[in-house]
Amino acid sequence: MKKILLIYLPFCTPASPPYSLTNLYSFLKANSKHKIDILDLNLEFHKIKFPKYHEYYKKGKWNDYAEVTAEFKKLCSKAYSENNKKVVLGKKPELLNKLVKQIKDKKPDIVAFSIVYSSQAFYAHSIMKELKDIECVIGGPAVNDKLKKVADKTLKNELEFLEYINKTKNDKLKFNYTTDFSVYKLNDYFSPCAVIPIKTSSTCYYKKCAFCSHFTDIPYCEYPLKTIKETILLSKQNHLFVIDDMIHAKRLLEIAEMLKPLKVKWTCQLKPTKEFTIDVLKKLKESGLRMIMWGVESGNNRILKLMNKGTNKKDVIKVLENAKKVGIANIAYMLYGFPSETKEEFIETMEFLKDNEKNIDLVSSSIFGLQKDTAIYKNPRKFGITKINKEKRTILEPKISYEVKKGLTQKQANKLRDKYKKTINKINKYPKEMNYFREHMLSLV
Ligand code: SF4
Repeated sequence: MKKILLIYLPFCTPASPPYSLTNLYSFLKANSKHKIDILDLNLEFHKIKFPKYHEYYKKGKWNDYAEVTAEFKKLCSKAYSENNKKVVLGKKPELLNKLVKQIKDKKPDIVAFSIVYSSQAFYAHSIMKELKDIECVIGGPAVNDKLKKVADKTLKNELEFLEYINKTKNDKLKFNYTTDFSVYKLNDYFSPCAVIPIKTSSTCYYKKCAFCSHFTDIPYCEYPLKTIKETILLSKQNHLFVIDDMIHAKRLLEIAEMLKPLKVKWTCQLKPTKEFTIDVLKKLKESGLRMIMWGVESGNNRILKLMNKGTNKKDVIKVLENAKKVGIANIAYMLYGFPSETKEEFIETMEFLKDNEKNIDLVSSSIFGLQKDTAIYKNPRKFGITKINKEKRTILEPKISYEVKKGLTQKQANKLRDKYKKTINKINKYPKEMNYFREHMLSLV
């Protein structure tokens, strides 16, 4: 029997336990005889580095939330970027020795790192170099060629991992296992109450938005509601973040029916299409759904069509209105500077936000960035992109930039966003800093 330690690395927001690693932990526990353990070093890093903020967020007495969170965010960004620079220069990042000691104290035979975000790649690189005497395995969407060179093994998914540690194929696998969050000290996260991430399906069923790479090659399948319910009951928590990229109304209603008797408060991410009628939203609200993060993206129909979002302005307005009517808080995800978007179309989006101000609780803005494996990347000319540039980096994959025939550049979109900052801030009913900690907003709505 081997001792296998699964590790989540800095740097991510330390507000809740990671889903993918917990799921891997539970799958391996159900299907192998090895001793499996888990360590959230991202949380440990933030606890050691920012003890004052750790206490603050756990207490939940937040008269000065916006100010404190803006300060915390600034300190985090500074720490992350300084440490990443150190790694690029071949130096050790902060707290490396302390975190390595936490790993070695557990005396594992194999350590496995889940690299979900590229922000975790730097620490992964350094920590693996320190663990020369322990077998290091990596996996996750942000694994890149540079990390593969340092790791002993790169594995694609939990099945490959199981095969790797068992050294044999297993045809009698248990897939109906509950994801066990009790493995963490849940009251240790930077939040007044634990918010459990729940996934109800393998990927987005829609898979058509031109800018999105979330779904890649994964086939869509819905997880059994019975198992999801057991996961929630086992966690003994009543705040849930349903992290699926998108769920259709029929399935959501089934989920809501399962959740209603559990008396939980939950949130999810959706595409604002007309299937979200007032009746549907009412039922969702009755099951404890308190806020929805809507992929609104733009207030211009040409851009929505080009994105292949499958939405239109008229329906989006109605859906936001319906949700607000039944008492659900609306977060609007906005994406500015989509290739070919003009200044006039950007302004139309600002007008759209202002006109629907009463139905929007928080605006979450981002600037378009070109990503590999998206429809735009595969067919750039269709979107008016004339050239794709790749700039080599030391730890991360090459940085992608692009040139457009017409419309706003990323720089211009950024400038316009800054210009309209006040307009957007006026719309927000919650501190904009809650975009950094959506778990906190769930505890307030
Ligand atoms: S943006 Fe959302 S709805 Fe669109 S394909 Fe991606 S995950 Fe699906």
